[in-house]
This record gives sequence, structure tokens and C-alpha cells, in this order.
Amino acid sequence: MTNVIDGDAVAAEIRSDLEASVETLTDAGARPGLATVLMSDDPASETYVSMKQNDCEEVGIESVHVELDEDAPAEELYDTVEELNRDPDVHGILVQMPLVDQVDERRVLRTVAPEKDVDAFHPENVGRLVAGDARFKPCTPHGIQKLLEHEGVETEGAEAVVVGRSNIVGKPMANLFVQKGPFGNATTTVCHSRTADLAAHTREADIVVAAAGVPELIDGSMLKEGATVVDVGVNRVDADTEKGYELVGDVEFESAKEVAGTITPVPGGVGPMTRAMLLYNTVKAASRQEGVDVTLP
Ligand code: NAD
Repeated sequence: MTNVIDGDAVAAEIRSDLEASVETLTDAGARPGLATVLMSDDPASETYVSMKQNDCEEVGIESVHVELDEDAPAEELYDTVEELNRDPDVHGILVQMPLVDQVDERRVLRTVAPEKDVDAFHPENVGRLVAGDARFKPCTPHGIQKLLEHEGVETEGAEAVVVGRSNIVGKPMANLFVQKGPFGNATTTVCHSRTADLAAHTREADIVVAAAGVPELIDGSMLKEGATVVDVGVNRVDADTEKGYELVGDVEFESAKEVAGTITPVPGGVGPMTRAMLLYNTVKAASRQEGVDVTLP
């Protein structure tokens, strides 16, 4: 029987553990605060931000939301971030991507104070991660490590293939897999859009993390028997549904399930873990900034 990981359930466990830490911080007069900043009318971004606010509320984190006009000058966004950097009640800052054209994304990432950078995209935090001294781990790859831990999937000595080399998923995932330590120590290959023969790599892998953003790129014929398959992809494809589309991953679930030992579904796999790890980083940020020790899940 293939083990289909229930990401919603694992994320719920993490949120429930975090609730206790939030309570400890709040009792010490240091209630964690997360600021979300949105500068876009994109409905998907609006949904993501409101889900993150709801998650905060559920565990007792204070959420502050700043919404800027899509057409506002870029300076308004940089100034907003600076202001939040100075606000002692805000421990984590998340600027929702993608950004509008007039904004320089690299400047935004560099403007967020590294100690409040709960997405872990600031160059200082990227550098620390690569050096094996992470302040925060980026939410999606960290969530994947937690899923593997929860399911008892050993990474040490495993052949891991990461499909995708983005700064938010592929590269940090590969960096975490190659680190010495728990849920690292994997022999890691990164595949991308210019990889000559993707299947030749995935077929050798004990663990495949698919983060290409290509619907059903990886099917069962490309996998090794018993492999662990983590599907990060969230792709909208036309479908005969009420909304006119459905969400599919980067893995063709039905054929992959026949071969894999363990697999994550889409939705309900990696997505909820990404959101839970944002709360984790916010609690960690508050604990550090306020000098109040808490146990993290
Ligand atoms: P991206 O577009 O920034 O990067 C995609 C990467 O895939 C690129 O590095 C590219 O080289 C590689 N790629 C593209 N086509 C390929 C192919 N045919 N073969 C091999 N590699 C190929 O995307 P991203 O931001 O890393 O996101 C990837 C997917 O994960 C998207 O579907 C996104 O929606 C989803 N995502 C999900 C979560 C979550 O929490 N579930 C979080 C972030 C991203």
C-alpha cells in the first residue's frame, strides 16, 4: 500500500504545538506579530494573504495587514517595509509576491530586516542557510523536511532529486538536503528546464521533490519502485468544473501512486505545510527578538 501523506493533518499538529508557544510568549507580554503587505489586485495573492491571516488568528498570532494601491509608487512599499522593521510589535514581515512591475523585487527582499524575514529570502538569510547556520528555513522546503520527518522517511545517504531551481523552493530544498544533520545528508541532484534527460535522474531517486510548475510533468514510469515523491506544484488546468479549472501538481498522481512508496497529494500535501512553517518562523522570530525561550515543534 502506498502511503499518501496527509499534509493537512501534519500541519494541524504543528499549528497546535505552536499555539502553546504563542501562549507562553503572550503571557510574557510578547505576543508574536506578523505583518503581511500586499501591493496587487491579483485575486490569488489576496486569497493567499487572507489564508495567512486566518492561520495567525487560529494560533493566537497578531496579524497586521498593509494593503497598498497597485499603482502606488514603489517608494511607498519600501517605506512601509522600513516602518514595519521599526515596529516592535511586528516580529515577522511578509511581502506577498509576485510584485507589481514598478517595484524592484531584489530591493524589497533586501529591505526587510533579516531578523524579521520569516520567508528567509533576504540575502543574509540565504547565505546563512547555505553556510549551514540558518536563522530561518524557507517555509516550503522546511515544511517538506517536517513531512519527511513525520513519515519517518530517512534522507541520510538517500539519492534525492529536486526538480526545479527557483530561489523559493528548488535551491533552498537542495541546500537543506545537502546540509550535515537531521533530514539532510542526502546525495542531491538538482534538475531544471535545461536538464537533458529528466527521467534518467528521477528513476534513480529515493526521494523526488517536484517543483517545476509544469502540470503532471512526472509520471509513474519516471520513478523508482518505492520512492518518496513530494509534489510541490500547484497548477491550474482547464476542467469541466464549476470554476472551469482544477488544481493539479507536477506529478501525475494516479500513475505515480502505483510505483511510489510514499507520496503527497495536491491539494493537501505540501501547501498546508508551507503555511504552518510561516507561523513557525514568526514564533521563532518573536522568541528571539523578545528573549523569551519557547519550544518549537
Ligand atoms: P518557478 O517557475 O520559479 O521555478 C520552476 C523551476 O522549474 C525552474 O527552476 C525551472 O528550471 C524548472 N523547470 C521548468 N520546467 C521544467 C521541466 N520541464 N523539467 C525540469 N525542470 C523544469 O516556480 P516555483 O516558484 O519554484 O514553484 C514551482 C511550483 O510549485 C509552482 O507550481 C508553484 O505554484 C508551486 N509552489 C507551491 C508551493 C506550496 O506551498 N505548495 C510553494 C511555492 C511554489
